[in-house]
This record gives sequence, C-alpha cells and structure tokens, in this order.
Amino acid sequence: MTPKHTDCNKHSDERCLDCRKCVILKFVRFGFTDYVFLPLHVPHVCVILKDNKPISAGFYNFSKRHAFGHSEGLKIGIKKDDSEIISVLLGG
Ligand SMILES: [Zn+2]
Repeated sequence: MTPKHTDCNKHSDERCLDCRKCVILKFVRFGFTDYVFLPLHVPHVCVILKDNKPISAGFYNFSKRHAFGHSEGLKIGIKKDDSEIISVLLGG
C-alpha cells in the first residue's frame, strides 16, 4: 500500500520543513486572533509596518496543526496558544 500524500512520519516539525508532505507556512501574530501567513521564502520581518508590534512569530504545520520555531529577524518565537488558536481559525 502506498502512503497517502498527508502521511508524514517525521518526529519534529523542523524536519518537516523539507519533508515535502506537510504544508508549512510562516506566520506573524499581532493580536489575539490577528495572524498573517506568508510563504517560507519570505522573511518574517516583511510584514512589519511602522509601530506594528508582533506578539509572536514562527512556523505553522498545517498538516499536523502545530505551531513551532521562531523568527530570527524578529527575535521572537511562538506562544503557547498559537497552535490552538490557528487551528480554531482554520475551522477546528
Ligand atoms: Zn512532515
């Protein structure tokens, strides 16, 4: 039996950045439910406008519904509730 497209046996989300099975985007969060998603090749700092302070930033694995990592440029990481809130925003 061939594995499904969504099957991924990587143990860490960092390894999923190139697993070619998981859908992963970067995100920057400005408020409780105020998220901006961007492709992996775009730096997190690109979405920062003047006086627009992010409260968290990192990566979101849409296939595993899990936030992870941090932004080098913004020098901040994810918050504990990012995984839960993004998953709710996407429809549970
Ligand atoms: Zn994966």
